[in-house]
Amino acid sequence: MKKNLWDIYTDTQRNELEEFNTAYRMFLDAGKTERECVTEIVQQAKAQGYRDLTEVDRLKAGDKVYATHMEKAVALFRIGSDDFAAGMNLLGAHIDSPRIDLKQNPLYEDNELAYFDTHYYGGIKKYQWVTIPLALHGVVVRKDGTKVAISIGENDSDPVFVITDLLIHLSAKQLDKKANVVIEGENLDLLIGSKPLKEEEKDAVAKQIAQILKDTYDFELEDLQSAELEIVPAGKARECGLDRSMIMAYGQDDRVCAYTSLRAIFDAADMTRTACCILVDKEEIGSLGSTGMHSRFFENMVAELMDKLGNYSELHLRRALANSTMISSDVAAGFDPLYKEVYAPKAAAFLGKGLVLKKHTGARGKVSSNDANAEYIARIRKVFADNEITFQMSEMGKVDAGGGGTIAYILAQYGMEVIDGGVCVLNMHAPYEISSKADIYEAYRGYMAFLQDMK
Ligand code: MN
Ligand code: MN
Repeated sequence: MKKNLWDIYTDTQRNELEEFNTAYRMFLDAGKTERECVTEIVQQAKAQGYRDLTEVDRLKAGDKVYATHMEKAVALFRIGSDDFAAGMNLLGAHIDSPRIDLKQNPLYEDNELAYFDTHYYGGIKKYQWVTIPLALHGVVVRKDGTKVAISIGENDSDPVFVITDLLIHLSAKQLDKKANVVIEGENLDLLIGSKPLKEEEKDAVAKQIAQILKDTYDFELEDLQSAELEIVPAGKARECGLDRSMIMAYGQDDRVCAYTSLRAIFDAADMTRTACCILVDKEEIGSLGSTGMHSRFFENMVAELMDKLGNYSELHLRRALANSTMISSDVAAGFDPLYKEVYAPKAAAFLGKGLVLKKHTGARGKVSSNDANAEYIARIRKVFADNEITFQMSEMGKVDAGGGGTIAYILAQYGMEVIDGGVCVLNMHAPYEISSKADIYEAYRGYMAFLQDMK
């Protein structure tokens, strides 16, 4: 069996790894929603000398640009010296994570307790989201188009919110239910108040909440019709374990691959082939919509880029896309010794054993998977060997145990070579996910090697 990364790393690398992970935790704290991630990414990109593509007239080799879409997706490019139609090296990850959204008419009161009605987003085990401190993030857009940015529950002085669960003493019936219905979707409502507005007869607690929204946040209750408010676990990303070897945090699927990809395009040495890092929304609900990977946003931005390079044509665009190579950077399922029965040990991914490459994803008979070509995997192996990158080839679990997907198949539609590769995590999609600091650093190194050396 392959050695553990902690045995391989030099003292210098161990120090770099700690620095990298400190910055990673700050990124997670700054970006708990896709919008917050885009804001943070643009800020970091500007500090690295990236310019807004829409504000640039002409481009040349060596230039760095970014483009955003509806504040929820972002693409970064470093222009290489090679003919653009020869293709790009692409890293693509997603910045949306499973969570619980507010409905558009959310406020109600029941027996003098006030709640926000919700609808969950992405694949969650609903029972994991009760009785933990929750925060509220997002935007409220008033009719006149002005926006209120909301983040409540992250500062020590902020209140937090909670979804209640039934007390054990009265749970005889509930505990007999199947896990997927033990907490029902309609019961994932957020407790937000218990104090009635003075001298109000009916719905006084809800009225108090509406008053607070007006006084503190300066919007009307009906403005929630045009709001995107996301309920996420409150609090910061933490080091995990007595040896501090892991990170425990919300949203590591897929911000761990988004951040490592972002840092790879920032830090890679000069390259001849154009590099691109695309970070998109909506992966957790099927990659649809204008900010998901299925949107033409990416293709449109590549066309804009080629136009500004002075060599746009429909044919050049098609060639550039088909000749590109990609790592679809998304998380993998880390082997959990407490649940051995679902993993096939020879095909599993292990914490601390490096970047995880997945030839295919999908479920059952590899259904709905991008299946990376053997020739392409060989090229990736060569790049990783030349750069001493430790990687492991894995599948999600035992055949027929379940499955999942990424954005890989969507880019593959252009005819480009795509493989899935990322960091493995424990309890994926739970409010707090676990990753290995060493794997995070190795993914960053691997992505950099790919951008620099894939031809
Ligand atoms: Mn993912
Ligand atoms: Mn996911």
